[in-house]
Amino acid sequence: MDEFELIRRYFTRASGDDAVLVNVGDDGAVLRAASGRDLVVVVDTLVEGVHYSATLAAEDIGYRAVAVNLSDIAAMGARPRWMTLALTLVQADPAWLAAFSRGLHAAADEFAVTLVGGDTTSGNQTVMSVQILGDVEADAAVLRSGARPGDCIFVSGTLGDAAKGLQLIEAGPASGPDREHLAARFRRPSARVTLGLRIASLVTAAIDVSDGLHADLSKLLDASECGGSIDVDRLPVSGQLQRIAGAAARRLALAGGDDYELCFTAPASAEAELYAIGGELGVRVTRIGAVAAGDRLICKELGVEVDYDVGGYVHFSGAKQ
Ligand code: ADP
Ligand code: MG
Repeated sequence: MDEFELIRRYFTRASGDDAVLVNVGDDGAVLRAASGRDLVVVVDTLVEGVHYSATLAAEDIGYRAVAVNLSDIAAMGARPRWMTLALTLVQADPAWLAAFSRGLHAAADEFAVTLVGGDTTSGNQTVMSVQILGDVEADAAVLRSGARPGDCIFVSGTLGDAAKGLQLIEAGPASGPDREHLAARFRRPSARVTLGLRIASLVTAAIDVSDGLHADLSKLLDASECGGSIDVDRLPVSGQLQRIAGAAARRLALAGGDDYELCFTAPASAEAELYAIGGELGVRVTRIGAVAAGDRLICKELGVEVDYDVGGYVHFSGAKQ
């Protein structure tokens, strides 16, 4: 199977989207941008052995590659529309490609995203870059920089599940419903696209939690030139994580990565509506802290400042920071 056959077989599908004027097959895709809207562009690269292990099922790798990008789109309050895929493969294994593309298309279909192009090369390591183009009403993109002292800090879903799930996957086949739930949270992150769209006009800033809550909230607060505090005892922890991790659950919720939940800030006046939206969508929304003046992010337990060993994954740092 050569490059062209591979593209035809696994990555070429009819598009039901009238805004895709030229799909896969020409030198470039032609997309009709909606007038009065801004484009939001995100890209994320997954490197085998760095972002995931080769033992992860190819279908999950495909799903994840799209979901982690959708999560960035969600954090911008944007609607995902189109994507491209740059794929470097060591070999063209039809079974792997069939499963990988199935997972990729499943995520794309779930969120109505059309794969409109890409690039396929051979190399000595499997690397994939998914780029998603989304759009948002003009000037309405949600940024990291809009938080203000006095705002409340919220997070969606539950935290720490995926970090524990990854540990379980690495330790061997997961057994039992709790372990399976946690492993699935790593394999198939739920991008909070609908939530992002619904809360966009209510929030002052947002970020998706990929490196860990403490690390990502720190980035949001830095961008907003603010400090803040997290009430660690309020962090939403799933029953599954509580049962499997016990006392370690809290630290996983604070510092574990890969959850792809949304962390956002909003004035207290928006709190009731944010909870109502979460209730409607079946996504937990929890107030976990407050934005303050200054530049420190502190953790509190029952109102008292505590020290935690935190920090997310940083490439080229040589170690967890
Ligand atoms: P070119 O030689 O002009 O770069 P390619 O042969 O690389 O074109 O690609 C042919 C077509 O297939 C292009 O429309 C490109 O966007 C698309 N394509 C290539 N690889 C992928 C992929 N992995 N997924 C989706 N579309 C792809
Ligand atoms: Mg070309």
